[in-house]
Amino acid sequence: MSEDYLAALSRFAIESAHAQTVDDVLWLLTNDIVASLGFEDCVVYLTEHSDFSLRQVAAYGNKSPQHMVVDNPITLAFGQGITGRAALLQRTMLVNDVREDADYVVDDLERLSELAVPILVEGKTVGVIDSEHSHAHFYTLRHQQTLEALASIIAAKYQQDSLVQELKRSEEAAMHAASHDSLTGLANRMQFLAWAEQLLHNRSEHSMYLAMIDLDRFKSVNDRYGHEAGDRLLCAVSKRFNQILPKGARIARLGGDEFAVLAGSHIASPEEMGQILVASLQEAIDIQVDLVVVGASVGLALLDANIQKVSHWLRRADAMLYQQKALGVSGYRIYPEEQDQSLPVELVIHAELTDLIERNGFDVALQPIVALSTSAVVGFEALIRWNHPVLGIIGPDQFIPIAERLGLIRGLDNCVIESVDRLFERVGPHQYISVNLSAASLSLLDKNETLMKLADRVGDRLCVEVTERSMVANFELAAVGLEGLRAKGVKVFLDDFGTGYSSLSYLHKLPVDTLKIDQSFVQNLSPRTKEESVVRTIIALATSLELGVVAEGVETTEQSQHLMSLGVELAQGYFFGMP
Ligand code: C2E
Ligand code: CA
Ligand code: CA
Repeated sequence: MSEDYLAALSRFAIESAHAQTVDDVLWLLTNDIVASLGFEDCVVYLTEHSDFSLRQVAAYGNKSPQHMVVDNPITLAFGQGITGRAALLQRTMLVNDVREDADYVVDDLERLSELAVPILVEGKTVGVIDSEHSHAHFYTLRHQQTLEALASIIAAKYQQDSLVQELKRSEEAAMHAASHDSLTGLANRMQFLAWAEQLLHNRSEHSMYLAMIDLDRFKSVNDRYGHEAGDRLLCAVSKRFNQILPKGARIARLGGDEFAVLAGSHIASPEEMGQILVASLQEAIDIQVDLVVVGASVGLALLDANIQKVSHWLRRADAMLYQQKALGVSGYRIYPEEQDQSLPVELVIHAELTDLIERNGFDVALQPIVALSTSAVVGFEALIRWNHPVLGIIGPDQFIPIAERLGLIRGLDNCVIESVDRLFERVGPHQYISVNLSAASLSLLDKNETLMKLADRVGDRLCVEVTERSMVANFELAAVGLEGLRAKGVKVFLDDFGTGYSSLSYLHKLPVDTLKIDQSFVQNLSPRTKEESVVRTIIALATSLELGVVAEGVETTEQSQHLMSLGVELAQGYFFGMP
């Protein structure tokens, strides 16, 4: 007999360790264990902590004729009946003969003895196991001890389960914090990107679009009334967006005064959405210290088949927002649909440039620089190209101004420097490569590791081209940076010479080695013209300052011969080689 009990106990301990939930453990007890103890019935109650009541959750015997269901489950108060008393007093209650128990309310004389064992976790009654029997004096000390052991196994499971649930709750809270903006309670950028990513990968039959929203006068409210008022404004704006957005649209705050919405045309067309968003901020907003009308600029872009990445999608909307902002009035603008061929090139550039720089998707063309007397190729100028899948070759004059405006120009310069690093393998061992540097790169030369590494490796075969204009922009920094490069053997070319300041007093202070005569003088070069005298002056200047000269944009034999007769040694242009 006692061995049976032990076997039942250890079986229960093992199986409950594998069970998923407390409920599973309770049914395990009532279905598999109780019968082996010889009980007629058994009911397990769990505490409802809100009102100290006990709820029947699992049963064996006539309370549960059907598997895994308690028939007419009842609720008992703590203190009510033997079960309630076990819960309240937190100890085992054994009644050997209900007829002799003064406290016992006899309602069912079929049951003469009863054993109730509380399930205790950290001093709290979390439930009771109760068994009744038709014989008086049925329950033995062994029964009691076994049931108590079972109760403590359940208690352990219960504790583990609530720990897990607690963990889940704090995990959910952490998830919420990570995906939401703490000021406005809206989803944050991370969450928004995840949504967009989802839409991109599980394209629906509806056409989805993205709207970027920027508040028009947020900065002035912030400056005028302070950050607290600014925060109140952001909260009020968030609330208003939440009120006016059609059901199904998702909104997030991307940062600062930038918001974004994801929606589908089945909810509202992009035009409607644009109108809704703009109109919502045309009403005054109460920021407590004042009533303000902020206004919104909105850029929208549909998700079309050409969009492969979220960043691409965002940039299209951003490009529209940027255009709307440039108008200086509230309003919205939608990225033109599906006709990339006829799109203004500038829009495409704006939308795709960041991505291209990130993955260095440019081509670099090399245009030969030739010694006029021998026709030997002494070096090459590296010229960036964008070979666009739809628009074909896009020249730097089209995208460099946009890169500058978007603050991407240094990244672009570095793309070229990286490519040039590889191109050195393809040119002769004594030929140099000359790289154009933007003003932005020029003021941060010593921090440019890509360039410095290249200069360390092949400094004596590397040239950089800078313009006077970009030098003046940040003279001290540029001069120090260029001197650093020259110390590594790098030669400095002064590009487009003749079009800038070209002030004598100033030229001798510039750390340069060679002047590049701008192509405008070369192309209009013929005897006794103004251009000819400019070229002569430049050559004289270079000679007296001991600088080299390269003529740019040579297209004809005449130009080439004319330059040679004036004493120019080096030249480049379509006449010698297309870039
Ligand atoms: P740049 O530095 O003055 O480059 C010379 C430009 O003249 C190049 O135009 C070249 O293709 C063009 N060219 C060469 N030979 C002839 C010729 O015989 N006739 C005519 N009409 N043009 C000729 P490209 O490649 O369109 O570059 C334009 C400008 O973009 C460059 O002017 C330079 O300022 C900038 N750029 C080019 N590549 C880079 C780069 O990698 N980084 C930076 N920051 N700027 C670059
Ligand atoms: Ca150049
Ligand atoms: Ca030039």
